[in-house]
Amino acid sequence: MGKLSVEALDVAKKTVLLRVDFNVPLENGAVADDTRIRAALPTIQYLTQAKAKVVLVSHLGRPKGSPKPELTLRPVAERLAELLEAPVAFCSQTVGQEAVEHAGKLPPGGVLLLENVRFYPEEEKNDPEFAASLARLAECFVSDAFGTVHRAHASTTGVAAHFPQAACGFLIARELEFLGQTLSRPKRPFVAVLGGAKVSDKIGVIQALLKRADTLLIGGAMAYTFLKAQGNPIGDSLLDAEHIDLAKTLLADAPRMGKSILMPIDHRVASEISPDASAEVCGRDIPDGKIGLDIGPKTALSYAQSIKRAKLIVWNGPMGMFELPAFEEGTMTVAEAMAESGGTTIIGGGDSVAAVNKAGLADRISHISTGGGASLKFLEGQKLPGIEALTDA
Ligand code: ADP
Ligand code: MG
Repeated sequence: MGKLSVEALDVAKKTVLLRVDFNVPLENGAVADDTRIRAALPTIQYLTQAKAKVVLVSHLGRPKGSPKPELTLRPVAERLAELLEAPVAFCSQTVGQEAVEHAGKLPPGGVLLLENVRFYPEEEKNDPEFAASLARLAECFVSDAFGTVHRAHASTTGVAAHFPQAACGFLIARELEFLGQTLSRPKRPFVAVLGGAKVSDKIGVIQALLKRADTLLIGGAMAYTFLKAQGNPIGDSLLDAEHIDLAKTLLADAPRMGKSILMPIDHRVASEISPDASAEVCGRDIPDGKIGLDIGPKTALSYAQSIKRAKLIVWNGPMGMFELPAFEEGTMTVAEAMAESGGTTIIGGGDSVAAVNKAGLADRISHISTGGGASLKFLEGQKLPGIEALTDA
């Protein structure tokens, strides 16, 4: 699983093409949240200090293969320059003569950001000619865009083959180290906490984690499909009717595999979903006319105890509709238990990460994965083309 690290490359005075994930939210032409830019700083700064000439390539949004002025990376170059406290050159082309000239003008330790690579339809098609023209800009390739490694695009995958060695940056190395633990020789007890809105989004992960974890704690809207599969009344809660049979199969498989799947024994419910809805607590069965919107206090306590006893915990998907204060309790209790657990704690998924940030507990979690889709695919045990393309350590 180990991939060649950027530290193993001889980069002094060489031009390095670094694929980063600068897919940040923009507001009024400025960067609204620079988390992803900051996440790339360790690798960028390592390279500039090693006197490499750093050429950065990234996508931003979904321009669908043609230039969209509102999706230019120019504001990102400005923000990056502030964070680095150093100039960052910008090229309004991603490949071609102008890009070659810009890259050629870089001094050792200099940084250049190329325009949004998805302005070119060839990028998402992993076009070999386009990958070759990206490769012509540099002598070494480093990938640190974990969020896009599950996509076989020219700048994440195709380009790597044009270099004798393709290395990973610090962000990807960290993802491989932490997520890798869940696949090979996990510390036990290994508890997986799964929630979120739809069973369909998470089938692969549930199946994969059932094989590897000792206990699955199910919450969020997903829990109602499992409860329904067991024959429990779920009132008007969200149901993924197509997946009731799958839930039945998983529930039947678990004991045969020596695993346990735990489900809510109580809930916070409301008659309607609205910002000022107040929560009522009910037992395992949800009455007609009520919607389950969070796990109840007994469930939260029992899940927290499992989490605190575990040596490895992976969490994906909130326990309830935590965007509404009346239904955030279950998710917050799980977040606190993660922070207090002495085990290795890993969180993936945009909403789960948002919940932990909201609770102010992010710095007490062992690893917060930066790639939603990529981390789920990784946990499923699927091959990620952007990782496969890198040189083995
Ligand atoms: P992640 O982004 O962490 O992978 P998901 O996107 O799968 O998580 O799910 C998050 C969403 O699930 C949130 O918007 C949340 O409101 C919703 N959700 C959680 N529990 C419920 C529930 N009981 N009923 C309806 N929606 C829910
Ligand atoms: Mg989400």
